[in-house]
Amino acid sequence: MKVLVVGSGGREHALARKFNQSPSVSKVYVAPGNDGMKQDAELVPVDALNFEVLAQFVKDQEIDLTFVGPEQPLAEGIVDYFENVGLVAFGPSKKAAQIEGSKSFAKEIMTKYNIPTASYETFTEVAPAVAYIREMGAPIVVKADGLAAGKGVIVAETEEQAIEAVEDMIGNQMFGDSSSKVVIEQFLDGEEFSYMSFVHKGQIYPMVIAQDHKRAYDGDTGPNTGGMGSYSPVPQISDAVVQRAYDEVVVPTVKAMEAEGAPFTGILYAGLILTEDGPKVIEFNARFGDPETQVVLPRMESDFGEFMQALMNEEPYELRWTDEAVLGVVVAAEGYPGDVEKGNPLPDLTAAIESNVEVYYAGAQEKDGVLVGNGGRILLLNGRGKDLKEAHQNVYNEIAKYNWDHFFYRKDIGWRTFNK
Ligand code: AMP
Repeated sequence: MKVLVVGSGGREHALARKFNQSPSVSKVYVAPGNDGMKQDAELVPVDALNFEVLAQFVKDQEIDLTFVGPEQPLAEGIVDYFENVGLVAFGPSKKAAQIEGSKSFAKEIMTKYNIPTASYETFTEVAPAVAYIREMGAPIVVKADGLAAGKGVIVAETEEQAIEAVEDMIGNQMFGDSSSKVVIEQFLDGEEFSYMSFVHKGQIYPMVIAQDHKRAYDGDTGPNTGGMGSYSPVPQISDAVVQRAYDEVVVPTVKAMEAEGAPFTGILYAGLILTEDGPKVIEFNARFGDPETQVVLPRMESDFGEFMQALMNEEPYELRWTDEAVLGVVVAAEGYPGDVEKGNPLPDLTAAIESNVEVYYAGAQEKDGVLVGNGGRILLLNGRGKDLKEAHQNVYNEIAKYNWDHFFYRKDIGWRTFNK
């Protein structure tokens, strides 16, 4: 089969490579991709939001499956567009993608169907939001209702911080339309984990869990980012907790979406937190997480292409995962998540790849034959091992061999598990 991956980040690189390694896949395209992916896929210079040109390309090349990576094309209806012209894109419809695109939509579903999550209220005006914050007290969490590239959540330690966030979001339209509505919710304390599942026509295939590190600097300090590293498995979350999350969150959510007339197809990503009352939902995403994908997909033992075919054809499939551990460290440009300088050369990582470290590129571009930085998050290096300790050693030993002038990475990915 021929596959098109839509998107250009590290997540899409991991998807493209996994398809490329699949014996049942003959050709992998990625649109638009980035220059660091060239060994795993053919780049197609079409923007992920240009549905018309993408669909024409899929028709011309007789591509069997289009796999959509990022949230934006999903929220803008790429799946509906493809369906209307007789093509299949794997991902949720525009309506179902609201589970990520509108926090208030997700919250309403969870409340209606008794899916465990933090208590909350929704606001479109500053004054009542402030009154609610004063009533509830801090810590408290303020969230932009719409998509905000992972930056629309403020975990406020004080009432003043929460009020400031509300004024920025509603008053000053910090995220435009995305923050004209805000969700204010109870602060939950506990260990977080990401639990993703392949979902199609009521079939659910859960993946192994991962944990990511959202803060920019060591010790989980500094601003929130798209994610600075991740690892899988997450030993501090027991199998019993994962099973509970499956029974109490994943299955009920898939059923709820069906009941609401928005059946979910695609990757249902549950961002969970283990509280004293069990796992609760912090957020849903309607697609693979980045950087979780880069540590979860490498643990898949099954043939990815074959699995996707079985899933689409609604044939039963035994999806297998390795017990090995994978730990990934993101290298970002200095200044990220703020302003960054582009065009700084990256080290040649051929030797790292030869010593079994995987490299997934995100913000990379080729200039005069070398890869240079072209964004905030630049790449992710993965170590593998019999356990997380070994995976950690493997990746950090390798990273230390290179010159990362103008770039930075966290030195403590996995600390929550190692400090246990
Ligand atoms: P999100 O963008 O929804 O994943 O939120 C970003 C981060 O904010 C999460 O990974 C959590 O660490 C934190 N967060 C979000 N909601 C809550 C909550 N209700 N209680 C505590 N922390 C939260």
